[in-house]
Amino acid sequence: MKSKAAALRCTVLKGTVLKAAVVMALCTWAGMATSQTATRPWNDTALSPDARAKLLLAQLTQDEKFQLIRSYYAGPDRPPNVPFPKGAIASAGYVPPIDRLGIPALEESDAGLGVASSDRMRPGDHATPLPAGPVTAATWDPQVAYRGGAMIGSEAHSKGFNVLLAGGVNLTREPRNGRNFEYAGEDPLLAGTIVGEAIKGIQDQHVISTIKHYALNDQETARNTISAQIGEQAMRESDLLAFELAIEIGKPGSVMCSYNKINSDWACENDYLMNQVLKRDWKYPGFVMSDWGGVHSAAKSVNAGLDQESAGEVFDKEVYFDAPLRTALAKGEVKQARIDDMVQRILRSMFAVGVFQYPAGKAPIDPQVNLKVARETLESGAVLLRNENALLPLDLNKLQSIAVIGAHADKGVLAGGGSSLVTAMGGNAVPGIAPTAWPGPVMYHPYAPLKALRDAAPKANVQFAEGNDVAAAAALAAKSEVAVVFVQKWQAESVDTADLSLPDNQDALVDAVAKANPHTVVVLENSGPVAMPWLDQVGAVLETWYPGGDGGKAIANLLSGKVNPSGRLPVSWPSDLSQLPRKDLPGVSGGTPPESVDYAIEGANVGYRWYQSKGIKPLFPFGYGLSYTQFKHGDLKVDAKGTQLRATVDVTNTGSRAGADVAQVYVRVPGAKSARLAGYAKVFLKPGEHRTLSIPLEPKLLADFDAGKHGWVIRGGQYSVAEGRSSDDLGKPVNVQLPAGTL
Ligand code: BGC
Repeated sequence: MKSKAAALRCTVLKGTVLKAAVVMALCTWAGMATSQTATRPWNDTALSPDARAKLLLAQLTQDEKFQLIRSYYAGPDRPPNVPFPKGAIASAGYVPPIDRLGIPALEESDAGLGVASSDRMRPGDHATPLPAGPVTAATWDPQVAYRGGAMIGSEAHSKGFNVLLAGGVNLTREPRNGRNFEYAGEDPLLAGTIVGEAIKGIQDQHVISTIKHYALNDQETARNTISAQIGEQAMRESDLLAFELAIEIGKPGSVMCSYNKINSDWACENDYLMNQVLKRDWKYPGFVMSDWGGVHSAAKSVNAGLDQESAGEVFDKEVYFDAPLRTALAKGEVKQARIDDMVQRILRSMFAVGVFQYPAGKAPIDPQVNLKVARETLESGAVLLRNENALLPLDLNKLQSIAVIGAHADKGVLAGGGSSLVTAMGGNAVPGIAPTAWPGPVMYHPYAPLKALRDAAPKANVQFAEGNDVAAAAALAAKSEVAVVFVQKWQAESVDTADLSLPDNQDALVDAVAKANPHTVVVLENSGPVAMPWLDQVGAVLETWYPGGDGGKAIANLLSGKVNPSGRLPVSWPSDLSQLPRKDLPGVSGGTPPESVDYAIEGANVGYRWYQSKGIKPLFPFGYGLSYTQFKHGDLKVDAKGTQLRATVDVTNTGSRAGADVAQVYVRVPGAKSARLAGYAKVFLKPGEHRTLSIPLEPKLLADFDAGKHGWVIRGGQYSVAEGRSSDDLGKPVNVQLPAGTL
């Protein structure tokens, strides 16, 4: 039977347009697989991943099972007494293979913005850096997110990795959080759908994706000790909802539990999070791996749902999932069935994603194709925050002189620091800036905006000033037709920023340049909102976060209008810290680390919901972004079918340039003080073109999580639905009556 199936697959392949060599390879594999399924029945791809995992589990010795439930650290800066794991690719983690059964090694690499590496890890290796996570979220385009995921998944696979520690979806509760650049903003629907698609893209390349950091690791200050205090309903409707949606869409093979505690229980030994929510309520079939240094016990962690300890020999007090776990098993504190479940889950994910069938290994990468994916992500996600008197787009064919100032724009574009750091081809464009050690090095990807602007404006005299000398920069601006000032703020894993200010006297720089030249454009390279005391003085502001691969060219294309900006903010932009739920961030500048952080203050009202419920106007609202064209949105229609809602709206490009707009649909459930994003759609329109968008609303956004009833409950009553161009720019609401119900 099995050999016939393989022969048939081969015949079909030979009839396709695949290159002969590829067909040969696949057929050889199919033939091998056929002969192997006789002796290794778990290789039979006709069986479900669960069935295959079960067959393989039955073959494993107890020592082999213990081998699979821990990984070894394969990274740099290791203690001298801990040898590098033999066979591993230098990266984040490694689980050795079990050759006698054909179980491949797990080669684990960071992270969500590309295949991470630094000179301390794999000197000379490089990968394509995507722009920062908020850029992908700001595209409001699930297809862009998918393509980015597929790109980094394919590079990971070609480098021999079959696990990416990618899928950061912690919500932006804290704009000072040092890792916001790895995540996807403040809204559970937007973050969940975007990250879910990125995960799908990664896993379609046969690389397991690891959604993280589960959960409520929403600040870096005291991340290894702090307890996030929050009620059950609030967390289910906010941070956990983002995970729930992303897991539904992306089906990641793995989930990484975080460093912090949640309601005083460590995330990696949190029965509520792992057993009750993830595995029981969401029926998650994959495995939970710990963050590096996130494990504090053997029996408690295992019984709470942790399946694999990561790099414990370096980061945990001891390797809990070795001797201590064996002792706990012998004492009956842990059941053998649970050990088997842990292994079953790991193997299941490996089969589900195709890790056995499509072994990762050295393969050529087309950097140009991949750079295009990165560039298009920024072109779709950069947000035009301000554009007075249509200063932008710049007519680069006409301009005679342009001043480019600041942020090493002559050399490259800034990246965020920490484990997600990618070294692009060409290496660090500005080496040596402190910190050069963890969480550094400070990295500039070598895609210089200056060169891209020079290429795009061949007739103009495009000159550069570093910006350290404010007077010199202002003088250059004064003698140029236009000044483009780049400002930057480096942020990194493990450290938050104390405030929203720009460092290194950059406010004075912008101020002086804007005074010298009324045609001043500011380009921001940052992890998230910064204070802009000079905002009213400058003509235009473009937010690019960390621009990533081919960032310079993307910026030139956006400034010149070759590409029309269509990003919309995935975060609210506070005017100042006094608008936040927590004005202070205790411990951020040292001193005694706080024991807990009170997330119950805003609860589920993260970001714009907080501002709305308090009647506060942020500087820029969630969902905001300008375009070089204009759009008109027609009247909203809402159809109800039981408890399902669908919004319909006409969007017309009434301007003279092609561009994309995002229809954002917000729902106010009865009694709520703020609205919730419940659906969205991005549409690209030529001048004069119009399109009718039909947008299904996510049922969980119409519901409340009822902790007592243990599920999503639609309260019923009058729901107000409004559509518009940001959370603060909505058309006339439509009221719909919904019956009470459960999901
Ligand atoms: C980070 C994770 C990362 C891991 C492995 C940890 O410090 O929190 O996001 O995947 O290191 O590098």
